[in-house]
Amino acid sequence: MSTNKNAEPSFNQAVQLYFEKAAAIKKDSYPEGLLEQIREANSVYRMHFPIKLGDKYEVIEAYRVQHSHHKLPCKGGIRYSIHVNQDEVTALASLMTYKCAIVDVPFGGAKGGIKIDARKYDEYQLERITRRYTTELIKKNFIGPSIDVPAPDYGTGGREMAWIVDTYVTFNPNNIDAYGCVTGKPVQQSGIRGRVEATGRGVFFGTREAVSNAEDMAALGLTTGIEGKSVVIQGLGNVGFHSARIFAENGAILTGLSEYEGTIVDESGKGFDIHDVMRHRKETGSILNYPNAKSLDRNAVLELECDILIPAAIESVIHLGNANNVKAKIIAEAANGPVTPGAHQILVDNGIMVIPDVYLNAGGVTVSYFEWVKNLSHVRFGRMDKRLRQNARNKMINVIEAATGKTIDSSSRQFADEGPSEVDIVRSGLEETMISAYRDIHKVWRENEAVKDLRTAAFVVAIEKIAASYMGLGIFP
Ligand code: NAD
Repeated sequence: MSTNKNAEPSFNQAVQLYFEKAAAIKKDSYPEGLLEQIREANSVYRMHFPIKLGDKYEVIEAYRVQHSHHKLPCKGGIRYSIHVNQDEVTALASLMTYKCAIVDVPFGGAKGGIKIDARKYDEYQLERITRRYTTELIKKNFIGPSIDVPAPDYGTGGREMAWIVDTYVTFNPNNIDAYGCVTGKPVQQSGIRGRVEATGRGVFFGTREAVSNAEDMAALGLTTGIEGKSVVIQGLGNVGFHSARIFAENGAILTGLSEYEGTIVDESGKGFDIHDVMRHRKETGSILNYPNAKSLDRNAVLELECDILIPAAIESVIHLGNANNVKAKIIAEAANGPVTPGAHQILVDNGIMVIPDVYLNAGGVTVSYFEWVKNLSHVRFGRMDKRLRQNARNKMINVIEAATGKTIDSSSRQFADEGPSEVDIVRSGLEETMISAYRDIHKVWRENEAVKDLRTAAFVVAIEKIAASYMGLGIFP
């Protein structure tokens, strides 16, 4: 199969094309130069640093791009991948700017990347690389709770964030807010409950909101609701695994899954148990040859029949070469940039609904925002009011029992009785964020003749909010 990759724009050009499409709709609304200012990356830091690994030195290439300073701090993950380059990090940083605006998270966009294949290094070597990268960021004032706050992305997680915060705190012992220099930290190191699953849970909330619209679903030949929908997922890392788990917990049927080594298609008719698939992978080193499943090659996952396809691995996997073969009715973009602009047009023309990355995977940064707020306020969510709410509900139940003469059974009482914990508050804040943001985007899509798809609508919403912010600053009066 030809991929026609040479005919496609780079990742950063792709994001700019999406931006330009929305900007063309808004161009008469703003002073000259404002849209250009929003589009361009503000600061790019490209670095090389040496690391002694064993008896030889290796020179590591790394980046931090701050796309927008219209709100501070900047915010965005750090990626470890051999494919990291300036174009990719810039594209990801700009997506962060638009994403934060769409979900009303008060940050400018940023992104970092280290060009390594993390699987080739042991834990000690990865720690040294991470700590050295953090030191480089500190030296150039590219990290800090009020400057720029990284988070996990492809190839990184809580472990790397723990090394980053430890390094930052070591260099900034007098900064009482130093723990807010990075998010996605382990809970024991000032992280927040619910962050690890946040992007996957946000993908679920956003998709659930999209499939709740009867008119939109009728146009796709689908009924409303997640329950019973067939779901196929590419990539079972942080985002893919938690998306799979939460969709299945809510009644979706996981009919196809893929990882680096290939694709598996369920033949049991019941759908995959994601925990059992992960156990199989741990034991055998692969998801392939899973019982009652057909094994196919890695890219076959994108062309399976299903209601919802969730690409949750890397960018540009749906391109001009395979877009016409996509049979899903909805593409829920959990990864950043999984669909190229040419492919996006083909999918839209083919009547497929694409729920765009720039909105749909914002759950991670939303809960990162909650973590940062927690770090700055130095108090766990729920600590001050959990018992208060519990007591208030208890009193209410007593009043109802006294007024009705009926006794509420103990399990219902216990359920009604419990005050919200930190994770309850985080999930509720995330749910509210994803629902409200979808409604904003959907309204722009449905009420503007010129806006033909959800992605363009999402960029229009982002432009409106960022422009208002610049104009509020008096920079573009
Ligand atoms: P991860 O490293 O935890 O997982 C990615 C998984 O994809 C890995 O298991 C990898 O083996 C697999 N993979 C790589 N290439 C593949 C291929 N061709 N086919 C199938 N599987 C493949 O990364 P992650 O944090 O889950 O990030 C995944 C995507 O989601 C990225 O695009 C990232 O930018 C985006 N994202 C992540 C977050 C977050 O909070 N982690 C937030 C927003 C967006």
